Order: sequence, then C-alpha cells, then structure tokens
Amino acid sequence: MPKTKSAEKKGKGSTKGAPSRLVVVSNRVPDVKDGRVQAGGLAVALEDALQNEGGLWFGWSGKTSTGRPAEPKETDVGPVTYVTMDLSRKDYNEYYNGFANRTLWPLFHYRLDLTSFRRTFFSRYQAVNELFAEKLSWRLKENDRIWVHDYHLLPLGECLRRRGCKQTMGIFLHTPFPAMEVMTYMPAHRAVMKALAAYDLIGFQTDNDMRAFTDYIEYEVGGKVSKSGKVEVFDRTFQVGVFPIGINPAVFERPIAPKELAWARKLRQQHGDKAWMIGVDRLDYSKGIPERFHAFERMLERYPGYRSQVSLFQITPPSRGEVAEYKEIRHELETSAGHINGRFADIDWVPINYINKSYTRDRLTLFFRSSRVGLVTPLRDGMNLVAKEFVAAQNASDPGVLVLSRFAGAARELKSALIVNPYDTDEVAEAMARGLEMPLDERLNRREAMMKVIHENDLDNWRDKYLAALADAGRKA
Ligand code: UDP
Repeated sequence: MPKTKSAEKKGKGSTKGAPSRLVVVSNRVPDVKDGRVQAGGLAVALEDALQNEGGLWFGWSGKTSTGRPAEPKETDVGPVTYVTMDLSRKDYNEYYNGFANRTLWPLFHYRLDLTSFRRTFFSRYQAVNELFAEKLSWRLKENDRIWVHDYHLLPLGECLRRRGCKQTMGIFLHTPFPAMEVMTYMPAHRAVMKALAAYDLIGFQTDNDMRAFTDYIEYEVGGKVSKSGKVEVFDRTFQVGVFPIGINPAVFERPIAPKELAWARKLRQQHGDKAWMIGVDRLDYSKGIPERFHAFERMLERYPGYRSQVSLFQITPPSRGEVAEYKEIRHELETSAGHINGRFADIDWVPINYINKSYTRDRLTLFFRSSRVGLVTPLRDGMNLVAKEFVAAQNASDPGVLVLSRFAGAARELKSALIVNPYDTDEVAEAMARGLEMPLDERLNRREAMMKVIHENDLDNWRDKYLAALADAGRKA
C-alpha cells in the first residue's frame, strides 16, 4: 500500500555521497492508486527508471484550491516518492490556461493567430515555476539527476539554480520548437531562452526542432553551437540533443481479451463490409481535424465510388475545454461533420462518425486494427504517438496504411507512410484513396520498414538514451 503523508520540512542536510536518484518533474504526475501507478506510455517508462534507481516525481496534482494551496502531498510507492501540489484558481487560469496553453502552446505550434501575449500570464508562469522550485529544492539530494518535462516548466531549472541547486538538470521538450522568427514574436522570448540555458541538457523531438533552437542561439543572441551539440551562451555551457520519443510496440501487438474482441466484432457487424478510416486526436487545433474533414469531403466528391463504401471514425476526446480557442474548434468540428454527413449520408451509411470521448488502449488497438487507413494529419506536432501506435497495432499479414502529415515529428522516422501536406486538401484526398486501394505487398513492405524504426526507437530506448546523455552532460558541466 502507498504511504501518504503530509510533507514535513527535511533539511538538505547529510546527503553528501548519497546514491544518485532520478527526480522527474512534469506538469502532471500520474495518479497513484492502491500502490500502483495508473497510467500508460511515458509514465510507465519513467516509472521503470524510478523503481530501478529510486527517486521522486514532482508536479501539479491536477486540482485547484480556492484559497492558498496546502503544502504538497507525498505518496510513497516502493522506492519512489510522488509529490503533488494543488494550484490556486488564479495560478491555474494564468499559468496553465494562460501562459502555457494560450501563449507557448499555440506559438510552438505556429498558430500566431491564436497566441495571446499577456504580461500577467508570463509573470504568473514565472511565479508558479518559482513555487515549484521552492517546494522541490529542499527535497533534493546532492547527487540527484533532475529530468524536467515540457513547456510548462521551461524556467524551472533557472529557478532551482537561483536557489543554489547544483545538481545535473535536463529538460525534454515534447512539443515542437518554433523557428527563430516565430519565437521572437513572443515578448518574453529572451527571458525564456536565457532560463533554458540553466539546464545541462535540452532534448528535442527532431533535428528540425533542435535546429530552430540553435538558430536562435547563433543568430539572435550570438551564442556558439558546436557540431557535438555543445552550446555556449548567456555565460553558460550546456548540451542539446535529439531524442525522438517512442512507444512500447508490444502493448499494441499483443493479443486482446476475448470480451474486447467480441465488442469489436459486434461493432464491425453493425457496419457491414464498409471500409474504415480512423483518426484519434485530442480535440486540439494543432491536430488538423477540420482540414482532415475537408479532405474526406473532397475524396467523396472526386471519387464517388467510395460513397456508401467508406466511413471515417474520428475519435476526439475533449481537452482544455476552459480555453476559448478549444471551444471554438469544438463548434467548428461539430458543424463540419454535420455538414458533410448532411450532404452525403444515406439510410445505411454515415460518412463521418465523430466521437467526443476517449477509449482504452485495447479498444483503440481494435479500432486501429479494423481500419484500412490511419489519418494522422496534424498541422504541427512534436511527435504524435498515435502514428506509431496505428502502425504497431496493424494485423501483420494484412496491414492498413498510414497517411501522415509532414509536420508531425513522427514523419522524420516513419518515412514509409504516405507523407502529406495537411494544408493540401487534394493531396490528402488522393492519399486517402491511395491508401484504400494499396496492394497487399506494398502495404506489407511499408509496415515492415516502419516497424523496424518503431522497435529501434522504442520508449525504453528513448528514456535510456536521454538519461545516458544527461549523465554525460552532467560530467561535462
Ligand atoms: N489516447 C487514448 N485514448 C483516446 C485517445 C488517445 O489513450 O481515446 C492516447 C493515444 O493512444 C496516445 C495519446 O493518447 O498514446 C496521445 O498522444 P499523441 O502524442 O498522439 O498526442 P498528444 O495528445 O500528446 O498531443
């Protein structure tokens, strides 16, 4: 059973020579229930590393409080301590819904039209990072290695350094990093970039993202970048590197429970022998879902033979529903799906099944496996794990086809997908049709090439490579 205790202040005290622990910091910490971590993907990979070496996972509890938030809560699971803290309502509005999700997220996804540059957002973002640093710093031991995740916590390293923390610290950015010209639109760009220099290692999803970062360093602030990824700027020396995040393919290849298979069979029967195309994306404007609907409409216009023969399943769990731009995209999608269905539907055929809920991993696997074409067409995406999951979930002897946006990080690895520009409606419509018609031997060859990369760069490899580079960066520092 996990041990939950309210935190008592422990001095930094006698930690010299203590074994090296891994300290993970992320905006959200996975839920711990009955002594087990309730999460998939990333949480499992980090959990493995934490359980092996002992460590700490620190972040927001996902809860808000009306007054001043209470002291962080600590829960022990084996050698790992999970430390979570609530945020005040104001912090939530201006740090999370504000600077993180209305400034950095749209800016990093090249949506300047949706980016809000309010000073109060930035100061609250700094303040919450400062608060995290305050609550974390005295829990650290001298030999800890700190691994910070994502755009919510860009200045955390700098806040910790100001408090005298000398530990090895790295950050991994799960989102894209924008081109220098785009970054400089943000009034606080220099403060944010200077803060990043406090880390010993900055990890990116793709070489494209890393190049955008080093361009800024070289051309905007006159820093030095060496071929080996050593960066000298703002009186600091640190490393940068590319670490494309992966999945655990075995999870999508393994047999599915009979009950779930029966569910899938029933669903399949309801739809007769119609072909399926599938999209699975959080409801987010970066995912290119309206553009995908238009491309599907174009396909039905240009290839009338597919009418009544092909349905698009779009699984879209809502996210960030309190942010105005997310309410707008939700409305836009409902209108668009309604319009296309109104235009083409027949008594026995609904062209777009637009579903606003989330599914378990097993059910997603079954959806992926039952679909002839997977549509992963974001306008911009750090990696996009669904692309890899779709490929891994396919029936090895009769696989479906992946249509993949060139603007997803995954396109740098999954070169045997049908790579498209999501802004080119005709090109996406043609790729959909090509996917539906593709002969078996071509589908087999393409999947095999992609599975090779997916196995080589799986989630455990990603974690191990990042941690090895972090240790190396720490030695160099
Ligand atoms: N996902 C899920 N159930 C759903 C929809 C999505 O478990 O109904 C998972 C999906 O399998 C994937 C993750 O959510 O692992 C989404 O990751 P991705 O990198 O594609 O996009 P993000 O949401 O992180 O931008």
